[in-house]
Amino acid sequence: MIYETKVLTRSPVPQASAGQDKVKWRHYSGEYKDHFSTKATWEQLRTVNPKVWWHKIVWFSHAIPRHSFITWPAIRDRLSTRARMRTWGLNHACLLCGEVDETRDHLFMASPYSFTIWNWLCCGLPGRRIPRLGDHSSVHYSAEHWDDSLLHRLALQAIVYGIWRERNNRRHQQPPRSVLLLTRTIDKDMQNRLQAIYHGDESRLTEVTQRWSRSTSIPS
Ligand SMILES: [Zn+2]
Repeated sequence: MIYETKVLTRSPVPQASAGQDKVKWRHYSGEYKDHFSTKATWEQLRTVNPKVWWHKIVWFSHAIPRHSFITWPAIRDRLSTRARMRTWGLNHACLLCGEVDETRDHLFMASPYSFTIWNWLCCGLPGRRIPRLGDHSSVHYSAEHWDDSLLHRLALQAIVYGIWRERNNRRHQQPPRSVLLLTRTIDKDMQNRLQAIYHGDESRLTEVTQRWSRSTSIPS
C-alpha cells in the first residue's frame, strides 16, 4: 500500500500537453517497447528451470524424435519398469534375463542381454565407456571429435529405444528377438540414420559410416 501510494504521488499528473497515451509492451529485460514480442512474453510467463546435464544427449538436431522421447524418461528414471511397478503392488522379473529386480539401470545396462548390445555396438568408439544413464560423469559428451559425439548419442538413443521396445514386445507375448537380431536391427537403424544425415555428401557419409562400422564388433 505504501509503495502504491509512493508511485501515485511521484507519477506525473496526466496532462494534455504531454501527448496522447500509448500502449507499451513489457519485454523480458524490464523495458517497455512499442512492439509486442511473443518470445519476450513467453519468457515472462514460463517457469525457468535450471539446465540439466543431459539435455544435449536427449535433444540434438540429428536425433530421431521417437528415440529421444524414450531416452528422456529413461534418463529421468520415469519409465514404468517393473521396479517402479512394484511400488504399485506388482512384482515381476526382468523380461530379458529373469533377474528379480527390473530397475532402470539393470534393464538398460546391467542385464546380460543389454550389456551384450552395448558391447557389440559401442565398445570401439574411442575414449568412450559404456554409459550409465543416471551417471553424469559417464555420459559426458564434450567430445574432441564431433563424429564420435554424434555417433555415441545416436547409438545411445537407438539402443535405449530398441531395448525398451523389445521389453514391451515380450511383455505383450510377442516372440522374443535374440540379442544378435536386435543388435543387427539397431546397427541397420544407425546406418539408415547416417545416410539421412549425410545425404548428398558421399565422402562424409563414407567417412562416418566407416567410423561407425569400426566401433562395432557384431558376430557374423
Ligand atoms: Zn535382465
